[in-house]
Amino acid sequence: MDLSLYIHIPFCKSKCFYCSFASYPGQEDMIDAYLDMLEQEAASYDRPPCSTVYIGGGTPTYLSAMQLERVLGIVRDYFSRDEGSEFTVEANPATFDRAKAKLLLHSGVNRVSLGVQSLHDDTLRWLGRPHTAAEALESYQLLRDAGFKNINLDFIYALPHETQDQVKADLEAIEALGSEHISLYALSIEEGTDLSHRQIQPLEPDRQADDYRMVVLFLKACGYAQYEVSNFARAGYLCEHNMHYWRGGDYIGLGASAHSHILGHRFWNAAAVSEYVSLMKTKGLARAGEERLTPQQRLCETFLIGLRMCEGVWLEGLEQKFGVMLEERQKALVRQFIEEGLLEEYAGVVRTTLQGMLVLDEMCAQLC
Ligand code: SF4
Repeated sequence: MDLSLYIHIPFCKSKCFYCSFASYPGQEDMIDAYLDMLEQEAASYDRPPCSTVYIGGGTPTYLSAMQLERVLGIVRDYFSRDEGSEFTVEANPATFDRAKAKLLLHSGVNRVSLGVQSLHDDTLRWLGRPHTAAEALESYQLLRDAGFKNINLDFIYALPHETQDQVKADLEAIEALGSEHISLYALSIEEGTDLSHRQIQPLEPDRQADDYRMVVLFLKACGYAQYEVSNFARAGYLCEHNMHYWRGGDYIGLGASAHSHILGHRFWNAAAVSEYVSLMKTKGLARAGEERLTPQQRLCETFLIGLRMCEGVWLEGLEQKFGVMLEERQKALVRQFIEEGLLEEYAGVVRTTLQGMLVLDEMCAQLC
């Protein structure tokens, strides 16, 4: 079975104003107990082979070098992976230094995803990021100096106060850095976040659509291929871990809030650190829920998530794989979206058009 491994480190220096992830500042005293339980959870697997590994958060680099080394040791001791297979760790410029860069590289990590978000200090402050633009650039240089040859930079665009000229200037500065991979996410204002409490309104949809088109065209012109709604890479640098997930592959998730999916069995852990630790201690697993997906559900989910990728989805192949067909109602909707120019079909492969990517969530809501 082709498996990917995800490990969630839910600790952060502070809470960014837009963040709705399972991430918690001020819980440093829980870190060692959390890592004990993470190791216990890893030990419950029988050293399965994993084609990709991704340590995300939260902020993995918020851990001390010794704690980070322990997490890397969990990957080494409890999972098997081919040398050179993709191994990504997320890093935050506020909690990164030369020693951590070297530790990651010497532990087999070959891809780092750096959360830059903006190259302007006023925007970083507005987002509640705990670092400056200079610190982000310094972290990027530390990664290059250490020898990393596969770096992703995360950015946020479509901020309500940003003009198109500012977005364009940002894109030029981002491109000049020369990273192998860029993830660009439109700011979304999620319930429960600081931005939503302050009733900050998102950029109006038309402007957001204009910015998105500009981002896609600009990065394409600079040699980055778009391969997913928000992801762009130079040739040979697609994120294999995410592709595995978008292609409907199986994965193991360790840690608070982490989801796993193995052959149609989906299960997920408690999101709060204290609950995760307590459940692991008392029950030996921290499961908050589980479900067994029917072949019809698996077909539908794999089809919908596949529409995120520019390579599209070979629908007939998926129907053969799961032994069921997409419902007539769904097929009629697919035909309607093709007529509307939101999807396109060639040789049985259905793909989302640039126009469709702007309304993909709405399309998926209708299709499911
Ligand atoms: S660093 Fe990332 S996970 Fe942590 S609060 Fe900010 S956005 Fe959320």
